[in-house]
Amino acid sequence: MQLARTSERGGTAGTLRGFNLFGVPVRLHFTFILLVIYLVVTDLGSHQTSASYALFLVGLFASVLLHEMGHAFVGMRCGVRTTEIIMFPIGGLSRMARMLRPTEELLIALAGPAVNVALSFGIFAYMYSQHMAVSVQLSDLLQPTEASAVARLGYANLVLAGFNLLPAFPMDGGRMLRALLSYIRPEDEATRLAAWLGRMLAISIALYGLLAPQFMLVFFAMFIYLGAAQEGAAATGRTLTQGIPVRAAMMTEFRTLDHGNTIRDAANLLLSTSQQDFPVMHSGQVVGLLGRNLLLKALAADGPDAYVAGVMDRDFLSLEPNLDLAGILPLMAQSGRCALVMDHNHLLGLLTTDNLSEFLLLRRFGMEPVV
Ligand SMILES: [Zn+2]
Repeated sequence: MQLARTSERGGTAGTLRGFNLFGVPVRLHFTFILLVIYLVVTDLGSHQTSASYALFLVGLFASVLLHEMGHAFVGMRCGVRTTEIIMFPIGGLSRMARMLRPTEELLIALAGPAVNVALSFGIFAYMYSQHMAVSVQLSDLLQPTEASAVARLGYANLVLAGFNLLPAFPMDGGRMLRALLSYIRPEDEATRLAAWLGRMLAISIALYGLLAPQFMLVFFAMFIYLGAAQEGAAATGRTLTQGIPVRAAMMTEFRTLDHGNTIRDAANLLLSTSQQDFPVMHSGQVVGLLGRNLLLKALAADGPDAYVAGVMDRDFLSLEPNLDLAGILPLMAQSGRCALVMDHNHLLGLLTTDNLSEFLLLRRFGMEPVV
C-alpha cells in the first residue's frame, strides 16, 4: 500500500521508530506489536519447529518491506521522495512527499505488487533449481511442515500481490483504479469511488471473517475500512480547499507573547483565551511559538518564573498566505501543529487544526470563503 501525504518532520502518531532503509525511515505501527503477540500465541499450537516458523515470518516481513521499497524506488525515479514507511499488521504504507499525478500514481502503485510477483518467481525458480517440490498440498499450507516453509513464502508473495491489486482503497489496486479513472472523470469522484469500494470490501471481509469464523480477517477488515474512510475524507478535504489560499482559513484575531514574558504570563493567557498556541514576539518580529504542551512541560520542569524565550519552539512551521490550502492539509493533519501565516517577516495569522476543521465544516455547508 502507499499513501500520498506531505510530511516535513516527525513521525506519524502511534508509530515507533524503527530503522532507516536507503535513507527512508521505517516505523512500526503500535498494532504491529499485537500481530507479533497473536503469532506467538498461535504458534504454541503449531506442529512445525519455531525456527522454520520464525524464518517464514522474517521472510514475510522482508517481502512486505521490499514491496514498499518498490514504491519508494519508482517514486524516486518519478522525482517523489518517500518520507516514511509505516509497517501495519496488514502490510506496509509509504508516505510520499507530495501529491501524485495520475501517471506517477499508476507506476508507483504498480511497483509494489510487481516486487512480490518477482519475489515469488525468484523463490520458485530457486526451488526448481534445487529440485525441491514446488507444489505443496493444501494440507501443508494449513498445517505447515518444516519442508514447506520456503514454498509458503513463495505463495505468500503471490497472495500479497493479489491482495494489493484489489481495486479498492487503501490497496495499491485502488490507487491504480483511481489514477485510471481520473483520466476520464474528475479526480475526487474517482477517489470517492475507490474509497467506497474499499469500504464494501472491508465489510465483505468482516462478514466472511465472522461467519467462517476467522477473527484475524475481522481485524484486517477494520484496517481496510479505516484506510478507505481516511482516503475518502482526505479527498473531500482536498475538494473543499482546492484553489483557496491559506489566508482565507487563518485565524486573524489572536494574542501573542513577548519574549520577555514568563511561563506564568503564558499560563494566564492560556486560561483567559481559547487559544492554545501563542506566537512569541521580539520588537515586532516573530521569534518562536509556544504551544499548550510545551507550556505545561516548561511549567513542570522549570516553574512559572522561567522565560518563554527559553522554552519556545524556534523551529515553528510558517506558511505563505497565498499557498494553496489543499496542498498543506496533509501536513496540518499529520503534525497536528499550529502554523504561523507570514508574509516575509510579518505575522498575518495563525492556522490551527481546530480552525481548519471549522473552515472545512463551514465549506461543507456551502459557505463561500472570503478571499
Ligand atoms: Zn503497496
